Amino acid sequence: MKFNMNLRLKGLTVERLTLCLQNRQPQVSPGHGVRLLSTSKSLSFMEKRYWNTVFSQSEPKFSKVLIANRGEIACRVIETCRHLGIKSVAVYSEVDCFAPHVRLADEAVCIGPAPSSQSYLVMENIVEAAKNTGADAVHPGYGFLSENMDFAAKLTENNIVFVGPNSRAIHMLGDKIESKRIAKEANVSIVPGFDGEVQTDDDAVRIANEIGYPVMIKASAGGGGKGMRIAWNDDETRQGFRLSKNEAKSSFGDDRMLIEKYIDKPRHIEFQVMCDQHGNAIYLNERECSIQRRNQKVIEEAPSTFLDPETRAAMGTQATDLARAVGYDSAGTVEFLIDSERNFYFLEMNTRLQVEHPITEMITGVDLVHQMLRVAKGHPLTHTQQDIGITGWAVECRVYAEDPFKGFGLPSVGRLNKYKEPTHVSDKIRCDSGVEEGSEISVYYDSMICKLITHGHDRQDALDTMSDALDQYEIRGVTHNIPLLRDIVQEERFKAGDTTTNYLAEVYPEGFKVGHYLMLSKQLNSSEAMQLAAMAACVRYKQDVRSSSFLNNTRIKTSASLPSKQTFRVDIEGSDGFDVSLSSENDNFQVTIGEEHLKVTDNFNLSQSVLSPQISGDTTHFQLLDSSPTGHIKFRYFGTVFDVSVLTQDFAAMSQYMKEKVVPDFSGVVVAPMPGIVKSVAVSVGDMVSEGSEVCVLEAMKMQNSLTASKTAKVKKVNFKAGDTVGESDVIVELEDLS
Ligand code: ADP
Ligand code: ADP
Ligand code: MG
Repeated sequence: MKFNMNLRLKGLTVERLTLCLQNRQPQVSPGHGVRLLSTSKSLSFMEKRYWNTVFSQSEPKFSKVLIANRGEIACRVIETCRHLGIKSVAVYSEVDCFAPHVRLADEAVCIGPAPSSQSYLVMENIVEAAKNTGADAVHPGYGFLSENMDFAAKLTENNIVFVGPNSRAIHMLGDKIESKRIAKEANVSIVPGFDGEVQTDDDAVRIANEIGYPVMIKASAGGGGKGMRIAWNDDETRQGFRLSKNEAKSSFGDDRMLIEKYIDKPRHIEFQVMCDQHGNAIYLNERECSIQRRNQKVIEEAPSTFLDPETRAAMGTQATDLARAVGYDSAGTVEFLIDSERNFYFLEMNTRLQVEHPITEMITGVDLVHQMLRVAKGHPLTHTQQDIGITGWAVECRVYAEDPFKGFGLPSVGRLNKYKEPTHVSDKIRCDSGVEEGSEISVYYDSMICKLITHGHDRQDALDTMSDALDQYEIRGVTHNIPLLRDIVQEERFKAGDTTTNYLAEVYPEGFKVGHYLMLSKQLNSSEAMQLAAMAACVRYKQDVRSSSFLNNTRIKTSASLPSKQTFRVDIEGSDGFDVSLSSENDNFQVTIGEEHLKVTDNFNLSQSVLSPQISGDTTHFQLLDSSPTGHIKFRYFGTVFDVSVLTQDFAAMSQYMKEKVVPDFSGVVVAPMPGIVKSVAVSVGDMVSEGSEVCVLEAMKMQNSLTASKTAKVKKVNFKAGDTVGESDVIVELEDLS
């Protein structure tokens, strides 16, 4: 498909829409959006999910809502609109013209080229789209313009309702510096050390010393973990102040900074609040979001294992006090850090629907988007605090297109060649996503693929379902973080609820990798390794049976051509090999490895992508990613990809004469860990660098990353300069050992 990139965006013209959608033969309604075929989930499903909703059909409601967002959150909001009988309008950038949110909405309007600065962040285009389609309200989702009070004000000027808090509340709370001031006045306990805006790096060092190290340096306008650095000494304060300030300027267009005490090993616990325009405010209990990388959440759960009813009530009350203090009138989230003594400190308030809102919906049965639409229309809350309980337990894993083996997750891009969500596994699984097979995860937007949410009657039940769901979630074509998520949900400390924001660093001190530099991240215990070896042998056996029953592409009858007992040499990459003997009997394989005997049910065939045999009685899932006739088999097992070779004994004996793979040494070079733009280079040829000293700053996915030397050395070559674009694994600087 081709776009005519020179075509001017004349308001929101049909030409552009037709251009984008020419292959889909949409019905065009002149001058406005496009009506497309939509799919929807059944009403009973929605009613079952949101069981705690008091909903009168006769209550006045918006007639048409425009969703100023993309991806999963746009789909999420449209879903509720459909349920309520409200018409929905999607907006989209050129690259998103085939996205599910566009198809799901009743109408769709193109608002510009791919970069968000030219589409999803252009207020004028969105207001124009709302006017042209006759939308009476706009839901902003999260990110983009959701916390932008100018956007809210602009809509109001045009008699369009902003589905979110009033712009005064956004102004007072959407900013970390201002909201801390207000919180202090409202007697909400705040993180010690905060004292307004910090102007220069000299001020930063002075204030940091007054507070006492460690300190947290933050952008007042920050969000999504961006523009934030911990500092343990004066040097780190200077560097962190500079990097965070630059990051804040380029990401948020606002580089005001603050410093506060760094709370060591806290939990992140936040409260969902819901308020109306009549002074009512309730809290819908907490979510614990301590599992974070780079100060960004990856796994969340509700409720928290750490809160007793008294602490919950105290925190919930402070959250609603803060909301009342500013006349808050929508859904919002009050974030706290809580230390091991259960002292809690206000962190910030997010004046929007939060990414992890589904876990609250799962335990309270309240549709938060519905409530946001109701209160924006002026209706009072129908729930009182007593109506809000906690039913069961909910866990959310954020499935990201990122490489968990690099810094717990560096963004990656690609096309979803194969994509199947595990919703068929159980009705206690919810997948909130805005992608489908064939979708592209691009550099333009957030790299989240899906929010995988499970509910259980208790925490372990929810976690067990999560393991099952992760095992059967098929994603191919992009690198994703399921290996890490799967490992965490069964990790002992996590299972015991012993979580802090330091969890990842403490549980995986060397980063998320154990054993091998290639694929192997999860260290299998011996029984898991044996199951994998046994399964690999079974797959190889079935493969041999299949190939022996074909001659020149013709099926021949050969039940006797393979001996029913076979012995293989099985090597799992990065671990010792096993001698595996196997016999096929009726519907089972009997597998012997050393002293161990395993029974593997023969209930799978090789055309399936998820194989789920029972091994000695327990159902175990293996995703078969690849297999060759020579016995090289690739499985995804416990989330991680394993390369396994299954060789006949003769072949194994020969393979010892094969040449060894050479592992390259990366310590002499500084390589780009991901694609990006070089912001600055701190060294030139001949300079001395010491281990850990900054060599250059790479901007990627709006983050400024300081790349450092891994050893003390002399700079031999500098291959890029500031402003250059680098690809993943490009060598930016070469080092030479001192001799
Ligand atoms: P939540 O707090 O809802 O769990 P995050 O804080 O990670 O989630 O942010 C939610 C989304 O909004 C992310 O996609 C993030 O990139 C984006 N985001 C958050 N704050 C801002 C901001 N001030 N400006 C731009 N994008 C933001
Ligand atoms: P964002 O707007 O990016 O969400 P927050 O202020 O909410 O920024 O902080 C995000 C995360 O950073 C927190 O959940 C916590 O893990 C960490 N963090 C922030 N401030 C502190 C602090 N003062 N001490 C310790 N950790 C902090
Ligand atoms: Mg936050």
